[in-house]
Amino acid sequence: MEIKDLPQVEELQARYREYNERYFENILPREITIEWSKRMTSAAGSCNYRKKIIKISVWYHLKYPEEIDNTLLHEMIHLIVPGHGPKFKAYLIKLQEQGANVSRHSKEKAKDPRWLYVCPKCQTSFKSYNRYLNLYICRHCKSNFKEYKLNDFKEYL
Ligand SMILES: [Zn+2]
Ligand SMILES: [Zn+2]
Repeated sequence: MEIKDLPQVEELQARYREYNERYFENILPREITIEWSKRMTSAAGSCNYRKKIIKISVWYHLKYPEEIDNTLLHEMIHLIVPGHGPKFKAYLIKLQEQGANVSRHSKEKAKDPRWLYVCPKCQTSFKSYNRYLNLYICRHCKSNFKEYKLNDFKEYL
């Protein structure tokens, strides 16, 4: 899967119109902007309901191309419902009952390790969900581990 294999924005716009009719009784805005984002590394998608812009992460969907519609539908709900409270949940259930593949969380869960620690000397490494605020010392060579933040697609924005 390469960037050029991802659907064009025109295709996403066509799906948007189709889903607006099928799942939202056309109550969503007719004209919105849908963009692929290369800068979005920590979420699958985002929605600015004031500006009517839905951004979809290039990186997440290169990894999970089958999740594009899920992300699009999730962000479409945010055009009318901010946050993930009871109203959002009610929409999810309504769409799922109509056969839509849409979810609250994206594939990579919060439990995935988010920090990577590497010993610069002997290259010993480990991943961790919790961040070690005190610098971790390598038990082999007593060097300080270096810390890296891993891209985490924890949940949709
Ligand atoms: Zn070491
Ligand atoms: Zn969301």
